[in-house]
Amino acid sequence: MQKFKPYIGLEVHIELSTKSKMFCACSAEHFSKKPNTQVCPVCLGLPGALPYPNERAIEDTIKLGLAFGCKVNGFSKFDRKHYFYPDLPKGYQISQYDLPLCGNGRGGTIRVRRIHLEEDTAKLVHQLGISNFQFPISKEKVTLIDFNRSGVPLAELVTEPDFSSGKEVIDFLKEVQVIVRYLGISNADMEKGSMRLEANVSVATDNKQPTTNNPPDYKVELKNINSFRFVKNAIDYEIERQTKILQKGEIPVQETRGYDENKGTTFSQRTKEEAQDYRYFPEPDIPPIKIIDKNIKRLRDLLPELPNEKRQRFIKDYHLPKDYIEILVASQELAMYFEKAVGISSSSSTSISAKTLADMIVNKKLNEEYSEPAGLVKKIIELTKVEYASDAQTDEAIETVLKENPKAVGDYKKGKGEVIGFLIGMVQKKLQGKGNPKFISEVLLKYMQK
Ligand code: ADP
Ligand code: MG
Ligand code: ZN
Repeated sequence: MQKFKPYIGLEVHIELSTKSKMFCACSAEHFSKKPNTQVCPVCLGLPGALPYPNERAIEDTIKLGLAFGCKVNGFSKFDRKHYFYPDLPKGYQISQYDLPLCGNGRGGTIRVRRIHLEEDTAKLVHQLGISNFQFPISKEKVTLIDFNRSGVPLAELVTEPDFSSGKEVIDFLKEVQVIVRYLGISNADMEKGSMRLEANVSVATDNKQPTTNNPPDYKVELKNINSFRFVKNAIDYEIERQTKILQKGEIPVQETRGYDENKGTTFSQRTKEEAQDYRYFPEPDIPPIKIIDKNIKRLRDLLPELPNEKRQRFIKDYHLPKDYIEILVASQELAMYFEKAVGISSSSSTSISAKTLADMIVNKKLNEEYSEPAGLVKKIIELTKVEYASDAQTDEAIETVLKENPKAVGDYKKGKGEVIGFLIGMVQKKLQGKGNPKFISEVLLKYMQK
């Protein structure tokens, strides 16, 4: 039987939520802003404008690298990557080539090859006609360019081709998203485009050694997919498509493919005849960056407790079910809310178990109703408290029951201890179930021992 082994590698782009852009002072917050209102000669690529790197973006990228156990390069630099497309007015993108900020990391079983920093491109909007424009080109296909996104800092994480299914890919992507949010360096929203990815997919047929780590010579690049679900579907579809081609004895074409959400299929967008030559060379307007160990240590010390560390601590400290932990840890705020609630409940006299608190958050979603954990704890105390009958009522019920059941009392005195259960039951009946069982049995015994 012929064996097929999929190889998938990711290039994940994360738009950093710094105040200003990567190489100028324009605001980097471009989402739903009026087009072309946050621009300057630098991010418009006007001749003679000089870039000035954003220190915060460099630090954020290093933090991301440290969170993935990367080695931070003490000597790093920016390079020009050339290509011709209207989203890039300079004719090149400032990126990093041979000396990225971070290299050789790991996320679970996936090797992270590198994490580098670059600038985002302008946003192209394809539409039919222009409204509100002095030269209306009605019903014609037009492309508008919004430069607000041009020059926004973009960290790119590149993995080795270590994934073998769509499910593995989205598990990893979700973890990247959680880590990025913990670090506070981006909201990493797929829908808003602040987290974007390209997935490279190939399938190997290796009859002799199907287990060796030997990716094929070709790869298909899947682009422009903006939800976890579609990423998974597109990859799984692509594996199947390539496997069928290989089963016919052919080799899939190296190309870029998009995903049709309605049909659930991938389609060819661009076939690269030969590898594109980006003519990389060092950016002459920005000096290389030296990162000293002291600064790496300072950034490492700034890292929060990372999701995986939190998961392990939650297992150890609270003994919660795994699915509860997943939900709590997926959000730093939720995890913090839970721990505050645990603290409040254990320091107050009524101690509610950590599991009950987690259940009220995970399943009952009471945290949405009570924004303060103290409110949640108070509510749970109310929910679990039973209104008992008063001591006087209980006393009276007991006396009545003893009077009405002289035989049972006699049996008890003869040594039939089990009648106590019957008597408690009778008292509860008189109290309509509102008696405090512990108190009833105490008082009963006291009477009977007289
Ligand atoms: P390129 O030189 O075209 O940029 P790279 O080797 O640098 O290609 O890899 C880019 C991305 O493609 C990485 O995420 C890598 O893991 C992935 N990749 C490389 N080769 C393969 C392959 N045969 N199948 C699937 N993914 C691959
Ligand atoms: Mg790339
Ligand atoms: Zn600018």
